[in-house]
Amino acid sequence: MQGYVDCHCHISAGDFDKDVEEVIENSKKAGLLALLAVAEHSREFEKIIELSQRYPGFIFPCLGVHPVQEVSPEQQRGACLQDLDAALPIIEKYKDQLVAIGEVGLDFTPRYVKSDTDKENQRLVLIRQAQIAKELDLPLNVHSRSAGRPTIQLLKEQGVKKVLLHAFDGKPSVAMEGVKAGYFFSIPPSIIRSEQKQKLVKQLPLENICLETDSPALGPEKQVRNEPKNICVSAEYISKIKGVSLEKVMELLVNASRVHISHRPIGGHVNRSRADV
Ligand SMILES: [Zn+2]
Repeated sequence: MQGYVDCHCHISAGDFDKDVEEVIENSKKAGLLALLAVAEHSREFEKIIELSQRYPGFIFPCLGVHPVQEVSPEQQRGACLQDLDAALPIIEKYKDQLVAIGEVGLDFTPRYVKSDTDKENQRLVLIRQAQIAKELDLPLNVHSRSAGRPTIQLLKEQGVKKVLLHAFDGKPSVAMEGVKAGYFFSIPPSIIRSEQKQKLVKQLPLENICLETDSPALGPEKQVRNEPKNICVSAEYISKIKGVSLEKVMELLVNASRVHISHRPIGGHVNRSRADV
């Protein structure tokens, strides 16, 4: 099946409340077959499940606690174990519908971690969620910022096998440690304005690459709302850097994405539109 899978997207974000239907329609027109709706905190879990039920076979739910938690729009802090208290019962409730645990990870940006204790708290939150992913046999959808090496190291120590590192900001040499462990890396449309991501894609084997948009963030243009339809921007850029046709990129990357949606059948809308005809 030709098309794209958006392996990391915040479709439950308030930015899409007004026009989510149109955003989804436009993404389908751009060739999107499926998207993974990742969570940042437990308060949006039910919304993600509802969206996945509204678009079956197209929106796939992932629940998890992000390493950075919002106290208010102006204030954010690193995650701690208490943040899991509200999340775990909801994950348990919907475990059979989930395709991954995410978005989880480590974020050692100085404004979120003031001390070693803050880093340790994030580690504990990630370790617990890594255990849950293993128990449920689900992949982890992982964020790492200023923490590429410690994230990959922790996941390896925990014996996590199915990993997608989204918008990885580390060095290609660190990413290659992930490749050795069989980990995948998803590339957002911001690649067209990020030298670091361009270098990363040059080094990564095509077999370990997936696509994402991280909508509404990481779009091709700074400060402009990103949408899942921009997935083709990443694909076209990868095809250019790797010197491989767009068709081949689609084929390989859709196959690579299947691991991260727990091998569920994708492209529900394609079947539906055929039935409509
Ligand atoms: Zn994200």
